[in-house]
Amino acid sequence: MKFGGTSMASAETIRRCATLVRAQDGHQVVAVVSAMSGMTDALLELADAAHHGNRVRMHALLGQVHELHEQAAADLNAQDAITPLLAQLDALVAGISAVGELTARSRDAVLSFGERMSSQLMAAALEGVALTGHEVGIVTDDHFGEANPLMELSRYQVAERLGPRMASGEHVVVTGFIAATQHDVVTTIGRGGSDYTATILGAAIGADEIWIWSDVDGLMSADPRIVEDAHLLDHISFNEAIEMGQFGAKSMHPRALEPAAEYGIPVRMRNTFNPECDGTLITGQAPAGGTVRAALRLKGSALLNVSGAAMVGLPGTAARIFTALAEVGANIQVISQSVSEAGISIVLPASQLDQARTALERQLVRPGIARHVDVQEDAHVVAIVGSGMAGVPGIAARLFTAIAAREINVIAIAQGSSELSICFVVHSDESAEAVRVLHAEFGLGGGTHE
Ligand code: ASP
Ligand code: MG
Repeated sequence: MKFGGTSMASAETIRRCATLVRAQDGHQVVAVVSAMSGMTDALLELADAAHHGNRVRMHALLGQVHELHEQAAADLNAQDAITPLLAQLDALVAGISAVGELTARSRDAVLSFGERMSSQLMAAALEGVALTGHEVGIVTDDHFGEANPLMELSRYQVAERLGPRMASGEHVVVTGFIAATQHDVVTTIGRGGSDYTATILGAAIGADEIWIWSDVDGLMSADPRIVEDAHLLDHISFNEAIEMGQFGAKSMHPRALEPAAEYGIPVRMRNTFNPECDGTLITGQAPAGGTVRAALRLKGSALLNVSGAAMVGLPGTAARIFTALAEVGANIQVISQSVSEAGISIVLPASQLDQARTALERQLVRPGIARHVDVQEDAHVVAIVGSGMAGVPGIAARLFTAIAAREINVIAIAQGSSELSICFVVHSDESAEAVRVLHAEFGLGGGTHE
């Protein structure tokens, strides 16, 4: 069972999580925890403040971190574990600010305190033992901030270390998100990484199920804030869940479902604050029936269009575009190119737009490979997702007919050959309506699965 930040927000919610673990009588449960709510963001800012010598901000943030954990520790009787960790954090931050240097490696060290402390709080509530991801055997490369678990080694070590502890009936609590290199240097595995930790552990021990507890019931057929009759999806496939994750249905670590899918371990998304709800079950096979499962949108994107007659028939243009974007760390969300080859459209996060445009102008327009880089801000991606669409003719026709009937203009279109989703770009003002139209068109509403 993995518990997210909001589930770990205070002594009270941590006790609630402990109750959920204990309620699984007759099963052996390993708990994986995120840092307390907002803590990773606070620690990130703390590391930056120390780095830039912003002492006022640094002390304010350290004060917050202390207060939140000291309060919870007092409540859960975990002072003995928390006090030394806070002292270590103070020393580390003092060191960073004294040297005025922050590396990816020392940033990870700072971030690790969120999960190291929350795991101690949970262990106190459960009267169990807290271990770091590294202590249970997860080893990563040294790509700090986004380290990659060495799967074979990790799986082997985790099975060997966790197995006996579980067999003895001990309540084991493991830090999500953090691990270490083979040389014992602390790493983090990417934001939202606790989900990933949970599935790595689940795969290693051959768990019956992996439960991801958060503050929502599960995945929905659409965002309930914009679609009134959106309903909870009770059972979908790994592929569908991964595809939906890309559309921000729930901010899960992009690789979180990989180990579970690979080893065929069912994942269940559940709500700590509504445990009566069964949540969303994710397995290898989606239940039959229903071609389209969800209508979703991705906000905060921008569209770049690279065009020019010189691009036609010139091999390597796409490669240059992608390389230029990769070099500035721009994350491509959607790509489309027409057969005329005279333009390639790319959707990326709006926050990366300026850098991306500059890079493309420098590397493609200036050497004469492309003529223009046009930009459309306020572009939203809208998509329908469902593995049942594969091989069914007429879905795209229905989609665009419905969208046209509402006089919504489609700016770009993309569909991968997996046929798992069809997505298109519209002006941001029209995305909510587009989602509503599609949710209705494909009959996704009305289900009551509470
Ligand atoms: N605490 C980490 C984060 O906020 C990991 C997680 O919550 O999954 O990204
Ligand atoms: Mg989180």
